Amino acid sequence: MRALRLPGWKTQPELVDVDEPTPGPGQVVVKIGGAGACHSDLHLMHDFDAGAVPWNPPFILGHENAGWVHALGAGVTGLEVGQPVAVYGPWGCGVCARCRVGAENYCENPAAAPVPGGGGGLGLDGGMAEYELVPAARFVVPLPDGLDPVRAAPLTDAGLTPYHAIRRSWSKLPPGSTAVVIGVGGLGHIAVQILKATTATRVIAVDTRAEALRLAEEGGADLTLRSGADTAEEIRAATGGRGADVVLDFVGAEATMRLGAAAARTLGDLTIVGIAGGTLPVNFFSVPYELSIQTTYWGSRPELIEVLELGARGLVRPKTTTYGLDDALRAYAQMQDGTLEGRAVIVP
Ligand code: NAD
Ligand code: ZN
Repeated sequence: MRALRLPGWKTQPELVDVDEPTPGPGQVVVKIGGAGACHSDLHLMHDFDAGAVPWNPPFILGHENAGWVHALGAGVTGLEVGQPVAVYGPWGCGVCARCRVGAENYCENPAAAPVPGGGGGLGLDGGMAEYELVPAARFVVPLPDGLDPVRAAPLTDAGLTPYHAIRRSWSKLPPGSTAVVIGVGGLGHIAVQILKATTATRVIAVDTRAEALRLAEEGGADLTLRSGADTAEEIRAATGGRGADVVLDFVGAEATMRLGAAAARTLGDLTIVGIAGGTLPVNFFSVPYELSIQTTYWGSRPELIEVLELGARGLVRPKTTTYGLDDALRAYAQMQDGTLEGRAVIVP
C-alpha cells in the first residue's frame, strides 16, 4: 500500500510503498477514510531533534484518523468488519490508574505502552496510508450515526485536544464570563465551536490572519481581533477592564503566551496548547493573582466519545479540505504559509 512516511527528524515526508499490515492477537486494522494533517507534524518536520520526544522516525504520519474496521486479530470481539470507527490517538499501557479511566494521554507506565508517549503517526505508523494497524481494540471507537470518517478524523485531535482543555475550565465559564481563543487554525476553529456548544461564555478569537477570523465568526465567535500590539488592551476593554476568565493559546509562541498572561483575569486560567516553543517568565507581579497556567496534552477516551457526539449532532462541524495522498505535501505547505482554512484531511 502507499503511505506518507517521515524518514527522519527535520526532513520532508516521502510517499513510499509498504506492506499492508495484518492484525496480531487483540489488534485491529482500520481502512483509513480520513487522516487529518496537524501542525504538530510540521513541528516534527522542522523543529524537533532526537531527544525532544521519547520516540524517533521513521514512521508513517497521521495521528488523527477515522475509517472502517478492515480486519480483526484473534480474540477481538464487539467490532465488525466494515463498521465506521475513529482511532483514539494517544496509546497508553492500558493498565495503569490513568489508562484504566481512559486518560491514556497521561499514561503512567509509558515503558509498557505500544510506544512511550506517542501513538500511531507519533513514533509508530499512523493513518496517512490506506490502512493503519491499531495495536489494541480499545483504541478503536465506533462512530455514532450521522458522522462520516472525513468529519470524524479531525475530531480525534483538533477536536479532542481543545475539548479536553475547555472541559477542565468549564467551572470558570459561566454566563457573563469571557474565553479567548488565540490561533484559529485546525484546533482553534473547533475550540470556538466547542465553547459555543458547551458553555454560555462570550468568545473572543484572535489570529494574525483575516480568513482565520472569518472562520471564527462562522463558528460563533462574539468578537474577533487581529493580533497586534494592542490586543491585550482590546480584550481588557471588551471585558470591562477585568480580562478574560479563560485564555486558550493554540500557538504557544513567546508573543501569544505573553498576550495570554496580559489578557487573563485574576483567578483565571491560561492554558497553553500550542507547542511553538515560547516561554513565559513569571514573577509575583507579572501575572494576575491566582492565574492558573497549564499545558494540556490531547484528551481521554471518554472525552473522545463526547466530542464525537457533538460532531454527530452537528453542534461541532470541522471545516475540512480534502486531499489525496499524492497531495499531502501541498496540504502541509498551505498550513505552513497560512493559506489553509480549518483542517486538511488526507483521503487515501
Ligand atoms: P494551524 O496551523 O492549523 O493553526 C495555527 C493558527 O495560529 C493559524 O490560524 C495561525 O494563523 C495562527 N497564529 C500563528 N501565529 C499567531 C500569532 N502570533 N498570533 C495569533 N495567531 C497566530 O495549527 P493546529 O494544527 O491548529 O495546531 C496548533 C498548535 O497546537 C500547534 O503548535 C500544534 O503542534 C499544537 N498541538 C498541540 C496539541 C496538544 O495536545 N497540546 C495537540 C495538537 C496540536
Ligand atoms: Zn496533532
